[in-house]
Amino acid sequence: MAAPRIIPIFLPYQGCRQRCIYCNERIATGVAPGALSEETLQKIMALSSGRSKPDRRPVQIAFYGGTFTGMAAEEQTRLLRMVQPFLREGRVDSLRISTRPDEIDEDNLDLLRRHGVKTVEIGAQSLVEDVLRRSRRGHTVEDVLSAVKRLRRKGFEIGIHLMAGLPGDSRQSFATTIDRTCILQPDTVRLHPTLVFKDTALETLYNEGRYSPLSLSEAVRQSRYALLRLEKAGIAVIRIGLQTTPEMEIPGNVVAGPFSPALRSLANAGIFRDMASLQLSAVAAEGRTVAFLLSQRDLSDFRGKKNENLAFLTERFGLQGIRIAGSPDYPRGWLTLRSDGRTVVLHRTGLLTTLS
Ligand code: SF4
Repeated sequence: MAAPRIIPIFLPYQGCRQRCIYCNERIATGVAPGALSEETLQKIMALSSGRSKPDRRPVQIAFYGGTFTGMAAEEQTRLLRMVQPFLREGRVDSLRISTRPDEIDEDNLDLLRRHGVKTVEIGAQSLVEDVLRRSRRGHTVEDVLSAVKRLRRKGFEIGIHLMAGLPGDSRQSFATTIDRTCILQPDTVRLHPTLVFKDTALETLYNEGRYSPLSLSEAVRQSRYALLRLEKAGIAVIRIGLQTTPEMEIPGNVVAGPFSPALRSLANAGIFRDMASLQLSAVAAEGRTVAFLLSQRDLSDFRGKKNENLAFLTERFGLQGIRIAGSPDYPRGWLTLRSDGRTVVLHRTGLLTTLS
């Protein structure tokens, strides 16, 4: 089924019992904390313009930015009731919420179900105990497993949020988190490499020299690994990296960390470079002009930033030239190499996935 078009409504910190070490929702969401008013909701919906004709994707209103099921039941009910008219009018098809894994119980799930919530996104962030503890998440790995079990039993679509580069995390523990996520089989994953935001406990640790964020290249490497592993497990990765807000662009708000709006493209470019390298290693292409066929929508990832991939492949394999044909009919993720009468076809999930 097509991915839904999401209308996000942010409820910064609402329902949160404590503050996670890295969290500054004002910078991450660009919204000031406070209860949602009817007037603000109407403004958001007017701006979202509802369902547009050429876009046949289902539409979901999403309550993000806090712990939805951690709020008082009356507040959850108030918010869910506020959006019911849009469901009845057919402007939206269903609802989604984000919450913590330790705030999910049967009564709450029934309340969500009765009001049209279809998807629940759980902030897991890591599936390694020590990383959760050092990140002051206040929940355990077992809480995530129980939450997924409950959600599945009640028939919800399940999303999991993960972070790379949290305090105490390493390549090995991040790979463990990804392995465990593959076993859990959520429908979707969002992955955010950790950024050091102003006015957080993580900023203090960073200033004291007790926390080092991932470099951009390491964040890309870990994202690439996660993308391939999760895709191989049939799990859709619906976002890599936080959506850039105007607050993030204010100097000093992002103190450190791999801040880039292009993380996914950078990870995909690395995947295409590895695919093409593997294919070129299988043919004698030196001194020849080779041709690649791929989906039109993968073209820019294949070329890489400023055509870096083309320059790398030309140099590494001593090519005379590279011809590229992007077709609208060619399936995404596949790459065909033609060289001197030989054809090598590869799908991205055919690449080895290691993180060492
Ligand atoms: S639960 Fe989410 S919104 Fe609440 S403090 Fe932690 S990261 Fe921030």
